[in-house]
Amino acid sequence: MPKFVVQKHDASQLHYDFRLQMGGVLKSWAIPKGPTIDPSVKRLAIEVDDHPISYMHFEGEIPEGQKGAGEVIIWDRGEYETFKEEGSREIKKQYEEGAIHVKLKGKKLKGGFHLIKPDWPGETNKWLFMKSTDEHISYEENILKSKPGSIVSVRRNSDE
Ligand code: MN
Repeated sequence: MPKFVVQKHDASQLHYDFRLQMGGVLKSWAIPKGPTIDPSVKRLAIEVDDHPISYMHFEGEIPEGQKGAGEVIIWDRGEYETFKEEGSREIKKQYEEGAIHVKLKGKKLKGGFHLIKPDWPGETNKWLFMKSTDEHISYEENILKSKPGSIVSVRRNSDE
């Protein structure tokens, strides 16, 4: 099964990097406000450069002077699958069509999520990240605050 990872990245601007294993790379989106499990909320997700698959294991400090300088923690990670309801259409096809529907099996993020690329002129790297309605939602819990730390260590880079 393919994997996903969310890396909390305390760069000049704190953000969460959401990455999906796809076609031999990690397709990547920076989510400035982070993922949410409230299905009524849409979060901006800016598509960024593909990363090598091995990067899903990276946690640590990006040194000063390098792009993205700051601490990275593995905020969540796990397997994912495409929605059965979508006929389990191949993830790459979903990506090309700008409408990704996946079920995540992370330690924190569980159940259905969507990444949708709106038809915004001139905004080719902007997507929207949102939770689909299922048994894993919450309208009250801010998962960024209730579960701020790394899933693989005791690190917690920022209490945002
Ligand atoms: Mn980043």
